[in-house]
Amino acid sequence: MKVPLSRPWVTEDDIEAVEEVLRTPNLSLGPKLVEFESMLAQVAQRKYAVAVNSGTSALHLIIRSLGIKDGDEVITTPFSFIASSNCILFERATPMFVDIKPDTYNINPALIEKSITDKTKAILAVDVFGQPADWDKLTAIAKKHNLYLIEDSAESIGSEYKGRKAGSFGDAAIFGFYPNKQITIGEGGVILTDDENIYKLSKSMRNQGRGEDEEWLYHVRLGYNYRVSDINCALGISQLKRLDEIIEMRGRVANIYSQKLSEIKELIPPYISLDTTRMSWFVYVVRLSEEFDAIKRDLIIQKLGERGIQTREYFSPIHLQPFYVEKFHFKQGDYPVTDFVSDRTISLPFYTTMSKEEVDFVVSNLKEVIYEVEKF
Ligand SMILES: *Cc1c(COP(=O)(O)O)cnc(C)c1O
Repeated sequence: MKVPLSRPWVTEDDIEAVEEVLRTPNLSLGPKLVEFESMLAQVAQRKYAVAVNSGTSALHLIIRSLGIKDGDEVITTPFSFIASSNCILFERATPMFVDIKPDTYNINPALIEKSITDKTKAILAVDVFGQPADWDKLTAIAKKHNLYLIEDSAESIGSEYKGRKAGSFGDAAIFGFYPNKQITIGEGGVILTDDENIYKLSKSMRNQGRGEDEEWLYHVRLGYNYRVSDINCALGISQLKRLDEIIEMRGRVANIYSQKLSEIKELIPPYISLDTTRMSWFVYVVRLSEEFDAIKRDLIIQKLGERGIQTREYFSPIHLQPFYVEKFHFKQGDYPVTDFVSDRTISLPFYTTMSKEEVDFVVSNLKEVIYEVEKF
């Protein structure tokens, strides 16, 4: 048996939806874009949605729409995917990292205020692995210090925090639709906001800085080609119709994992704050107990690979990526909770259609491999 880290779920209905749009003349900026955006605004309980060609593009357009620029600082987490910090660098602003909470791995609100300076313009928090960050606390801090609040909800479509949807917090939020996400359109992302100004600016900058009437050779500001085709949007519409089913199926896989893994005393399962969170699972990430280190963890990943099971260290923290080390001289230990956690986490195979047999296969092999490495 071979078990991949992730696998998109594309149905015959999805394929038909894509085929159908290919028989029309509207392959970009057509009716599928409008329909996809209106569904996304609803999923995130927002007024506006602007669909683009990636989650990274969506983050970039939010940074630009807020006017964050050279010399500004944005508070964010080092325990994330590189894009949530790179979008700040795109505009030559500085990411100011704040360490995470040891249970949920989300940014620790208690550490934020001491990192605020007179250059701070925004807080960019991430809903890590699908679990919303502490939005009540983050909103209060942002309000008190007059900062913009940005939600990277790329991993949390459909999740809820205190009964409110992921993507509904902050001045603007994003979802991402890469093939490993809960919903995929191949490549794509979306900006979600209630702010008319962010909406208008994002829409213009996605489309080469064209004016509101989208006249083709009239450009009122610096823009990009961040458009997403109607082919992708048709797939997105078809996938979004199954969002509730997808969340339920992934929840079932996570439950099977949690039950099986309780037998392995060396593993700390994902912690979900049940009184605030309703989970839309993005990935299933376990942590090895303290006696293990990154070398042993990597050995476990390698040995699982030899047995046909694909796993990954996740996240590999942003501040220790080579070009961040070169630019900012970060080192191990700068963010002790992030460094401790990221040395010991393993992302296990996880996807909507994963079977009980596949989970069993992963868990029994994981058990054996951990035992081998412990003896090592
Ligand atoms: C997936 C993801 C993104 C967006 O990624 P793209 O590949 O550009 O769509 C952004 N932030 C986080 C935390 C993500 O997991």
